[in-house]
Amino acid sequence: MHHFFVKPEQIAEGMVRITGPDVNHAKNVLRMKPGEELLVSDGTGQDYLCRVAELDSEAVLAEILKKEEDSRELPSRIILYQGLPKSDKMELIIQKAVELGVSRIVPVATKNAVVKLDKKKEESKLKRWQSIAESAAKQSKRSVIPEISGVLTLKEAVKDASVCGTGFFAYEHQEGMAGTAKELAGVGAGQSIAVFIGPEGGFEPEEVQMAEEAGIRPVSLGKRILRTETAGLTLLSVLMMKLELEAAEKISNPGAKAGERQEL
Ligand code: SAM
Repeated sequence: MHHFFVKPEQIAEGMVRITGPDVNHAKNVLRMKPGEELLVSDGTGQDYLCRVAELDSEAVLAEILKKEEDSRELPSRIILYQGLPKSDKMELIIQKAVELGVSRIVPVATKNAVVKLDKKKEESKLKRWQSIAESAAKQSKRSVIPEISGVLTLKEAVKDASVCGTGFFAYEHQEGMAGTAKELAGVGAGQSIAVFIGPEGGFEPEEVQMAEEAGIRPVSLGKRILRTETAGLTLLSVLMMKLELEAAEKISNPGAKAGERQEL
């Protein structure tokens, strides 16, 4: 089923009005016809099952059949602070992180990030990255399109993350998976979680100190050195599984206390 994002004001009286470049896409690329069902998300987390009523050169009009009750979003907000990687690795990271459920991605210019973006380059990269996030959100049937923020220095990123109740940074010199399991055991629904990943060259000791002083906790991802793109996706996968499992168990066993549920 094809998936479209609209603004809440494009929904009124049981109808959705899809406009802009999506019209050409629906008509000429997807060759949608009246009667075809589609999924529409209003970008605030609400999804609608709809049916095409009319298509013309200006708009696709769709009738709302059902307001979806179940959100496809994770029960916590995860913000990925990604040390700027080389070449086009950021595109892969954005695509996969969106599939795994992140709410926002912040590229971070750390000391060892070799890529330096001037204002003009940053603007065009951000446009491209945001469109990759939108495609990945559609493909994975997300209810919201995660925002790709402007590049921050690590100091700015740490400050930005201070609104998150929980923060982790993946650190290859941190020993022991037992510590990682202990840190992740505290993660649950309703939180905002900041995840920091270093660039190819890793974090410098003073950057580690800055993060730790701000209450961002170091976690190991095992004994092997992972590439920057693998590290983020590993940590996000574990968080996604833990949050999904907890949400599923809450539905199947609503009376159980957190401790009685199976821990990942
Ligand atoms: N420069 C480092 C080195 O050669 O020792 C490696 C940096 S690694 C390629 C890039 C980033 O991935 C790190 O900054 C860290 O955030 C994350 N990372 C890679 N392997 C990890 C591991 N085993 N545990 C935790 N984080 C890891």
